[in-house]
Amino acid sequence: MQAAILIEPGKIEIQEAPTPSPRKGEVLVRILEAGICGTDYACYMGNLSTTYPIIPGHEAVGEIADLGEGVEGVRVGERVTIQPNFPCTTCPVCRGGRENVCPNKVRLGLDVDGVFAQYICVPRPYVWSLPDGLPVSEAALAEPLCVALHAFRKSPSAPNERVLVYGAGIIGLLLVRLAVLPKTRVAAVDIAEQRLAIAKELGADTIYPSFSKLEKDAGSFSILYDTSGVADAFSNILK
Ligand SMILES: [Zn+2]
Ligand SMILES: [Zn+2]
Repeated sequence: MQAAILIEPGKIEIQEAPTPSPRKGEVLVRILEAGICGTDYACYMGNLSTTYPIIPGHEAVGEIADLGEGVEGVRVGERVTIQPNFPCTTCPVCRGGRENVCPNKVRLGLDVDGVFAQYICVPRPYVWSLPDGLPVSEAALAEPLCVALHAFRKSPSAPNERVLVYGAGIIGLLLVRLAVLPKTRVAAVDIAEQRLAIAKELGADTIYPSFSKLEKDAGSFSILYDTSGVADAFSNILK
């Protein structure tokens, strides 16, 4: 198969690599489309702990190409998305129901080869069947959508409430889209005009091109989603 191999920070090449074959309990997925995440960029720049060479990427939609021994509940040809962190399932954190923050989790595209390849093997519990008719490019957004959805479920908004999305990257834009559903009044702040234009298209009623423009209104929001990763986001807004 062909794969994008990150040989060292700043050096990525398309190369031939052995096509993996599924072991017991694994599913072989033929990748149809993959998303490029900020994590992949950080990995490319050498700013994340990983070992080189590695095939990066963790956001993907694919089609099941083969099943390892003992796999049940999915069939060859079915379209799936991939849950990219594999928790250990046995540590106290996992046993407490918080597998998403398992300290021993295996991260796809960082600890093991990821989805920027034609094929990948994934343990059965981490492939999720997709509904028929969902376009491939939209299905490739399932993982970032889950991130946004998790935040939204933790702090759901009510009609007429004012919500601020701080950072209109992909997660922020997905949160704008989710937060407008209950007729919330959503505002977004970002320094990139293009992103703010999309936030508006998705239903944000107010956009702020910088924090200083937002400052006078900062007290009027009852929910803040920080999707910027900027260190001073919270101190800026919680004055
Ligand atoms: Zn991601
Ligand atoms: Zn664990």
